[in-house]
Amino acid sequence: MSVQVVSAAAAAKVPEVDLKDLSPSEAEPQLGLSTAAVSAMAPPAGGGDPEAPAPAAERPPAPGPGSGPAAAALSPAAGKVPQASAMKRSDPHHQHQRHRDGGEALLSPDGTVTEAPRTVKKQIQFADQKQEFNKRPTKIGRRSLSRSISQSSTDSYSSAASYTDSSDDETSPRDKQQKNSKGSSDFCVKNIKQAEFGRREIEIAEQEMPALMALRKRAQGEKPLAGAKIVGCTHITAQTAVLMETLGALGAQCRWAACNIYSTLNEVAAALAESGFPVFAWKGESEDDFWWCIDRCVNVEGWQPNMILDDGGDLTHWIYKKYPNMFKKIKGIVEESVTGVHRLYQLSKAGKLCVPAMNVNDSVTKQKFDNLYCCRESILDGLKRTTDMMFGGKQVVVCGYGEVGKGCCAALKAMGSIVYVTEIDPICALQACMDGFRLVKLNEVIRQVDIVITCTGNKNVVTREHLDRMKNSCIVCNMGHSNTEIDVASLRTPELTWERVRSQVDHVIWPDGKRIVLLAEGRLLNLSCSTVPTFVLSITATTQALALIELYNAPEGRYKQDVYLLPKKMDEYVASLHLPTFDAHLTELTDEQAKYLGLNKNGPFKPNYYRY
Ligand code: NAD
Repeated sequence: MSVQVVSAAAAAKVPEVDLKDLSPSEAEPQLGLSTAAVSAMAPPAGGGDPEAPAPAAERPPAPGPGSGPAAAALSPAAGKVPQASAMKRSDPHHQHQRHRDGGEALLSPDGTVTEAPRTVKKQIQFADQKQEFNKRPTKIGRRSLSRSISQSSTDSYSSAASYTDSSDDETSPRDKQQKNSKGSSDFCVKNIKQAEFGRREIEIAEQEMPALMALRKRAQGEKPLAGAKIVGCTHITAQTAVLMETLGALGAQCRWAACNIYSTLNEVAAALAESGFPVFAWKGESEDDFWWCIDRCVNVEGWQPNMILDDGGDLTHWIYKKYPNMFKKIKGIVEESVTGVHRLYQLSKAGKLCVPAMNVNDSVTKQKFDNLYCCRESILDGLKRTTDMMFGGKQVVVCGYGEVGKGCCAALKAMGSIVYVTEIDPICALQACMDGFRLVKLNEVIRQVDIVITCTGNKNVVTREHLDRMKNSCIVCNMGHSNTEIDVASLRTPELTWERVRSQVDHVIWPDGKRIVLLAEGRLLNLSCSTVPTFVLSITATTQALALIELYNAPEGRYKQDVYLLPKKMDEYVASLHLPTFDAHLTELTDEQAKYLGLNKNGPFKPNYYRY
C-alpha cells in the first residue's frame, strides 16, 4: 500500500513514480531495505497493493515504534517487507581507512573498537571513560593531516567562499556567550552575527537540491519524521543545512556537529543556529573541540537521540564508547562514508552492532554521482584554482580508468588536453582505448607529461623514481581516496627543497633546479582545493533523508542489527526526483513491453548486478 502524505497539488512537480510494489525482486536477494521512506514520499497512488508479496516469515512486521498518527500512516504495509538480508562485505577499498589524525581505523580487525594511534596528544580518554575537555583549541589539531574519502579526516574541504570569516577573532567559540535572536544559546558557532550571509548560502544551495525541496513540499501534510531526534555529524555546509532543514520540515528534531575540523562554513553554522538548530561547529576546531562539540550534541539533559546520521563514524564511535546505553533508544544509524561504513561492517562482523545501519555510501546513485560526475566537474576546478593553468594541448597522464579516472579523462579531453591512461585491469584498459585514450605504462610518458593525476585507490602508483624523472614544472596530484597514491614521503629528503607557493601548492625543488608542483601534498585534490557540485550532494542528501525515514518508520524486526544497502527502487526514486531539473521526460514502459522484459512497470528496472 502506498501512503499518500500530501495533496496532489503539493506533489505536482515531483515525478510520477509509482511505488506500489516496493519489494525487491527475487533476483535481488542481497538488498535488505524495504521502502517505508519511498512509500512515505510517494505520490498518491490510490489504493493498496493486493499483489505485494507476503513478509518473510522470520521477520513478521510489527508496529513501528513511532506510534503516532504519522508513524502509523507511514508504516509500510506488511506485504511490502522485502527479503531482507544485510549485505556484508569485505571490500579491499574498505580496508586500512585513515582516521582523522592520520592513524589507522578505530576498529581492530576483530572488530574491537580501539583508539587509533594519534599524531596529536589525546585529550579524550576512552579507555577509562574519563572525559576532560581543554578550554583552548590546540594549534596542533589544526595541522593538515591525512585525507580520507570518508571525509571524516582533518583535511580541508573548502566548499564555498567564506565572506565573513574573521581571522582576527581568535576567541574560541567555547569561550563566547552567544544567543540567537530568539534568545536561545543552545549552540556553539564562530559568530552568530554571520547568520544572514549563511542564509544566502543556504538559499543558493536550495536551488540545486531539487529532491530535498520536493520532499519538503510532500511532507507538508504528514511528518514522516515526527518524534525523530536525529543527532548528526557531517560537514556543515550549505548543502547540509538544506538537508537539516528538510529533516526539520519532515518533523525531526536535530542536533549537529561537524565531522571535519576544517570544513564548517561558519556563516552557515550561524544561520542554522539562528533558525533554532543546536549546531556545535566552527572552522578550525582543535581535536579537543571536535569531541566536545560531538558531546554537546549527545549529552543533553532531557533530550536523547533516537537516530544517528554519521559521516565517518566518529559520532557513532563516541556514543559506543561514552553512552552505550543510548543505543537502547536508537532505531538506526545512517552512514555516508567509506570509512564509517567500514567501521559498521567491522562492528557487525564482531557481533557488536546493536542497531540496524544503512550504508548510503554504496548506493548506485551516490557512487555514480560522487565518483564519475563529481570528479568530471571538480578536477578542472581543483587544477585551475591551484595553478591557473591552461589545459589545451597539455599532456596529461591519468592513472586508473575507473569511475574517477573516467571523469577526469573526460573533462581534460573536452578541454583539449592530450590524455594518456595507465591501467592494470584489461577491461578498464580496453574501455580507455575505446574512448580514444592512449593506454601506456607510466614510465613511457613520465618524462614528457605536464600533469600526472592518480585515481586508483592504490598505493605507490607514483614513486620517487617517477618523480625524479618528471620534467620541470610537472604538476602532480591525486584524486584517489587516501594520500598513498603518490609517494610523497620519499620527497621529504634533505637534498630536495620544499617551497610553499600557495595554500595547498608546494614546489619541490631538485638540486639541479628542476621543480615539480605538488598539489594538496598528495591528498584528494578536489576535496582539498575546489568545490564539490551541490547537485551531487543533493543526491547523497536525499538518499540520507530517505534512509532515515525508512529506518525510523520500519516496524520492529524488519531490520536486524546489521548493515543494509538501499534497494535499487529507492535509488531509482532518488534519481527520478532529480529529473525535473532538466525538464527530462522519462519514457514509460507499455504493459506489453513490461511483460516482454519481465519487469514491473514501476521498477526496479535493472538487476542489482547491472553496472550502469
Ligand atoms: P575504481 O575501482 O572504479 O577505479 C580504480 C581503477 O584503478 C581500477 O580500474 C583499477 O584497475 C585501477 N588501478 C589500480 N591500481 C592501479 C595501478 N597501480 N595503476 C593503474 N591503475 C590502477 O575506483 P573509483 O571509483 O574510480 O575510485 C578511485 C579512487 O578515488 C578511490 O580511492 C575512491 O575512494 C576515490 N574517490 C574519489 C572521489 C573524489 O571526489 N576525488 C570520489 C569518489 C571516489
